[in-house]
Amino acid sequence: MPIRFEKVSYTYGKKTPFEYQALKDINLEILEGSFTAIVGHTGSGKSTLIQHLNGLLLPEEGRVVIADFVLEAKKTIKNIKALRKQVGIVFQFPEYQLFESTVLKDVMFAPKNFGATEEEAKAKAQKALELVKIPPSYYEKSPFALSGGERRRVAIAGILAMEPKILVLDEPTAGLDPKGIDEMMHLFKEIHDKGTTVILVSHDMDVVLEYAEKVIVLQDGKVLKIASPTELFQDENFESYSLEMPIVYQFAVALIKKGIAIDLTKVKNPETLAKEIVKARDVK
Ligand code: ADP
Ligand code: MG
Repeated sequence: MPIRFEKVSYTYGKKTPFEYQALKDINLEILEGSFTAIVGHTGSGKSTLIQHLNGLLLPEEGRVVIADFVLEAKKTIKNIKALRKQVGIVFQFPEYQLFESTVLKDVMFAPKNFGATEEEAKAKAQKALELVKIPPSYYEKSPFALSGGERRRVAIAGILAMEPKILVLDEPTAGLDPKGIDEMMHLFKEIHDKGTTVILVSHDMDVVLEYAEKVIVLQDGKVLKIASPTELFQDENFESYSLEMPIVYQFAVALIKKGIAIDLTKVKNPETLAKEIVKARDVK
C-alpha cells in the first residue's frame, strides 16, 4: 500500500485562541514495503503527520492517499475500519494503553475488534507475542505485573496481531536501554523483511542510519528534506537541520580527520565501521 500526501495542511483548535497550524503543505510519498524514518525537533509535526495515516486526523487541506483510500477534509470515509486494519499505529509509550486483565486478552483485543473469532484472535495473539518474545508463561498475567519494557512489547504485539500492511511506530525505543533498543529494532527489521511497510518516528539518529531506507525531515510543520540516511548525514546543510549526527558517524568522521581512509557511505553501525577501519589498515 503506497502512501501519498498531497498538499496536506492541518490546524489544531481552528478558530479558537489556541489555533496552531501543525502541518503546512506536506507533499511526500512512501513506497510500499519501504522502511521510512520521520525525524525532526519536538513539535515539528511528526505525531500529527502519522495520525493522518489511519484517519485519526483528517487533512484540513489537501489529501492523503493510501492505496485506494482517500482521506480529505469533510469527507467521511466509508471504509475507515478496513483502513485501520491495514495501518497499525503504535503510539508513544503504548504501554500506558494496556487495559485488559491479562496479557493474552489485551493482544487479542484488536483482532477480535476487526472480526476475528475467539479462536482466530487467540492464534494471532500468540503469534504476535512470540514475535515480541513474550513467553506463554506470561499470557495469563496482568499486564501491570510486567516490567515497563515487557509491557511495551505486549502493547506492540497488540498492533502486530492485526497483521497490518503498514506499521507505524512513534518513538518506540524511547526510554529503552541499548540492549532493549537493539532487540526492538531487530524485531521491526524482521517484520519489514517479511514485506510490511515500516514508518518509524525517532530521535535516535544511530537507529535511523542503521535501519531506514529513507528519512523525512520535518521542521516547523514542513517537509525540510527527504533523503537516504547517508545523503542526509553527508548533506552540507546538515547543521541547519538541528539534528544530531549518529554517534557512529561522528566517530567515523573523527577517524577520517586523523587520516584514516573511511568510506562514510559504507558506515551504518559499529560493525560496518569496524570493517572500514580494517580495510583502511590493510591498504596501508
Ligand atoms: P512532534 O510529534 O513532532 O513532537 P506534534 O505533531 O505532536 O509534534 O505537534 C506539532 C505541534 O502541534 C506542536 O506545536 C504541538 O504543541 C501542537 N499540538 C499537538 N497536539 C495538539 C493538540 N491536541 N492540540 C493543540 N496543539 C497540538
Ligand atoms: Mg511526537
